Amino acid sequence: MQSNLSMGNSILSIVVVFIIAITISCDQKESSTNSQDIGHFDPKGNAPSEFVISKWEELNNKLPFEDERDFEEQKKGFIASPDYKEIMADDGHVAWNMGKYEFLLEGKDFHTIHPSLQRQAILNMNFGLYEVIPGIYQVRGFDLANITFVKGETGWIIFDPLTASETSRAALELINKHLGERPVVAVVYSHSHGDHWAGVRGVVDEEDFKNGKVKVIAPVGFMDHAISENVYAGNAMSRRMFLQYGVLLPANPYGMVDMAIGKGTAAGTVGLIPPNVIITEDVQELTVDGVKMVFHNTPGTEAPAEMNTYFPEMKAFWAAENITGTIHNIYTLRGTLIRDALQWSKKINEALHLFGKEAEVMFASHSWPRWGNDRVQEVMKGQRDTYANLSNGVLHLLNQGVTINEIHNEYNVPKSLQNQWYARSYHGDVKNNSRGVLNRYLGHWDGNPATLIPLSPYESAPLYVDMMGGSSAIIKKGKELFNKGDYLNAIEILNKLAYGEPDNQEGKDLLADCYEQMGYQQESPSLRNAFLAGALELRNGIPEGETPTADSPDILRAMSTDLFLDFLGIRLDSRKVEGKAFTMNFITPDNGEKYLVELSNGTLSNIEGFQDENADFSIKINRSDLDLVLMGVKSLQELISTGVAKIEGDPSVLSTLAEAMVHFELRFEMLPGTGSKDEKVSKNPYQQDMPAVIGAE
Ligand SMILES: [Zn+2]
Repeated sequence: MQSNLSMGNSILSIVVVFIIAITISCDQKESSTNSQDIGHFDPKGNAPSEFVISKWEELNNKLPFEDERDFEEQKKGFIASPDYKEIMADDGHVAWNMGKYEFLLEGKDFHTIHPSLQRQAILNMNFGLYEVIPGIYQVRGFDLANITFVKGETGWIIFDPLTASETSRAALELINKHLGERPVVAVVYSHSHGDHWAGVRGVVDEEDFKNGKVKVIAPVGFMDHAISENVYAGNAMSRRMFLQYGVLLPANPYGMVDMAIGKGTAAGTVGLIPPNVIITEDVQELTVDGVKMVFHNTPGTEAPAEMNTYFPEMKAFWAAENITGTIHNIYTLRGTLIRDALQWSKKINEALHLFGKEAEVMFASHSWPRWGNDRVQEVMKGQRDTYANLSNGVLHLLNQGVTINEIHNEYNVPKSLQNQWYARSYHGDVKNNSRGVLNRYLGHWDGNPATLIPLSPYESAPLYVDMMGGSSAIIKKGKELFNKGDYLNAIEILNKLAYGEPDNQEGKDLLADCYEQMGYQQESPSLRNAFLAGALELRNGIPEGETPTADSPDILRAMSTDLFLDFLGIRLDSRKVEGKAFTMNFITPDNGEKYLVELSNGTLSNIEGFQDENADFSIKINRSDLDLVLMGVKSLQELISTGVAKIEGDPSVLSTLAEAMVHFELRFEMLPGTGSKDEKVSKNPYQQDMPAVIGAE
């Protein structure tokens, strides 16, 4: 039992997935059809096909490239770039590297990149300090998001301090160097996604916060959602980031080129200072350091807790992440609940009528500002209509029988919006978003009993392979389809082969070739990355690559006890506790919380505020001590034996739990026949590195 009690090295060590790019041998494969001289990063990789190139040329002639306003806006107000391209993490690795994307600035057209995406990828190459208007500044290109500085009477009010302390600190140093040193007097978190708060410790000193010198302002619901969105499905979401964000794809014209709302996520030190000012009203005014601000809560839009801000004295509107240089994710491929496109549209409409009619500039946590009231209104109305049309349009079609398997081929963005860059689908691919909207209302079933409880792919595929005449017939037909540029049909049959014969590498390589040509054609980096990372995994297996862990005491502290107990329930292997039952009182005296935890029917439940007088086991541990256990500073056994944690009753309850805990491995198989060669690491039974996807969106 002793060993099972050694919860010591972190029950939940929360980890931000930041992955140092995998080193894949860099075969300088020549592309006969592409003018570039940068080689493919994968020896199995291919140049774009003639079909991809002709589609590229068609799009290049069709899209509204003559509208160059984004480029003027992106450049406007430039003050200075730093004299470095890399920002180092405190522990010595590279936290941020803008230099690896410089191939985009060489004036070349890459046929491996959708021309519209290449344009967006270049726009996201902003790097340095910019003036929005006198008194409002942004540092762009230091992380996935922008960090914004508003000049108060005595210091800086910072909006959204990035993902990592190192990048936010570098941004603060840059602005202080060029505009004069000022203290940070307030921080505003626009919403609950980690790229907008996890770098706060780079700009706020703990003592200043404790002494009340710094206000930290956040929308209602911020703390509930900052952590929770990434816990329950956290491991799967992190794994899916390999695909959506291509975190293991090298930056290269054949690989990673952009993330739609920025270049990527910084890999540095994460932290969280809980807000001491919560904006609870729908619209709430506050003056901070002489700056009048009107906050506008927009829950249920891009994030569950989010708010815009209007600066009436400057006629400046901060759109948080509600309006950026792209249509956003309604369904994000990494996971999270499907967002509400109609609610999003309505909140943009509110902002338009509250502030947009007079705003002279609109700026946001990603992309670049829009100047002039006409332009502000144009973009606000355009995005309002794009989200509303998506929701209405999908509902319009589903009410006439269009299913989740068809909607992406039926729904189209209105032509007038297709010609507006701000309404294009970089982050949230429109096909994918339309399926998301349908799923929000009708779920995954298309209404056909054939798809109601289908066989799993590994079960159904062998019969398909057999009926199609075996692997050589499938590969022959697959090659024919590939050579005709009919990639989606080729994928249909080759995917069946991959499941039917997971060790058939020739088949998987051909499937990967199809994915790659599909990837080159995608406007949305989410889809591009998914296809290209899929090709990488099929060709080489699940990529190795460092996934350093970044324990963050702040984030563990911020995790509510019920979330922690819920997650134990998720990690519990039901089969191992069959026939077992117990009740446990779980008390954390310092914060006054009491939980009743019950194991019955192979299921762990918990309820706050209740206790069982006849509980099998009770444990009293201050939440601050539990935090030490979660952080791996102390073991639970140590705290029990020194009397810091007090127990009563049958201690085998804890060993029962420990024995049933499953450690979720990050590198589980997603594509057929790519599973890792079974290297099960033995772990402390309570340990679960939970790679919180806090850096995303
Ligand atoms: Zn963001």
